[in-house]
Amino acid sequence: MAYANYELRGRNYVGEVDGKHLIPLTGLDEIGPATTADALASAERRSAERVPVADVRLRAVSPRAGKIVCIGLNYTAHIEESNRELPTYPVMFPKYASSLISPDADIVLPPESYQVDYEGELAVIIGKAGRRIREEEAADHILGYAVCNDVTMRDYQYKTHQWMQGKAWDNSTPLGPYLVTPGEVDLTDAAISTTLNGEVVQESDLSHLIFSVPTLIATVSEFTELQPGDVILTGTPSGVGYRRDPQLFLRDGDVVTVEIEGVGAITNKVTAERV
Ligand code: ZN
Repeated sequence: MAYANYELRGRNYVGEVDGKHLIPLTGLDEIGPATTADALASAERRSAERVPVADVRLRAVSPRAGKIVCIGLNYTAHIEESNRELPTYPVMFPKYASSLISPDADIVLPPESYQVDYEGELAVIIGKAGRRIREEEAADHILGYAVCNDVTMRDYQYKTHQWMQGKAWDNSTPLGPYLVTPGEVDLTDAAISTTLNGEVVQESDLSHLIFSVPTLIATVSEFTELQPGDVILTGTPSGVGYRRDPQLFLRDGDVVTVEIEGVGAITNKVTAERV
């Protein structure tokens, strides 16, 4: 199954994705901190209110996530391009719910940053609370997957040795288009790519993750309880703009797409903020 958060005529809905249509679910208005797999599976489908995806405004998956834990340097090739050692413990940094935008919203270049970069990533959305989750049990805690562009202000990321300010920028990070449930997709070696103005700039597959999704769930839940609606961003492959020669940053008018086989694609236009 796949589900979408969407708005129609000023109201929020959760819909089951049925091809190019959405079927609203009774009793749910948002995938987020109150959402469990059972709630999604058992909610009544209001088939009579089926609506074309094209007629609604899609919203971010889990737009009010209590925690967004992002993983840095989780693909070997990206570590090599960053001139770093293979890690034995993942780099982690936060984003906030205020960082998230809709899967088709514009990526707005803030006036302060001149190095806005793309990072295509798999997002894992948690559906069951847990602390010190063992890797073998991690699958029970996954509500589903989505596609994310971990948009990063590189000049702010590297102002200090902490990355937060370059990563947790307000209204920077598209997440969607849908929540795809684990039973729907085999991610073992699913392809992941980022395309900028029609040119492929990142291309890998999920078998190249250094820390697997179960390992990440175990590692994060060791220090903090994971809750439904929480999001883990699993890191980006090589090819980010900052590490290219010459460097490549997002510019007004660009169009960037992140796609993961079986999970979907998000495409965002880049615009300059007018202040
Ligand atoms: Zn990232």
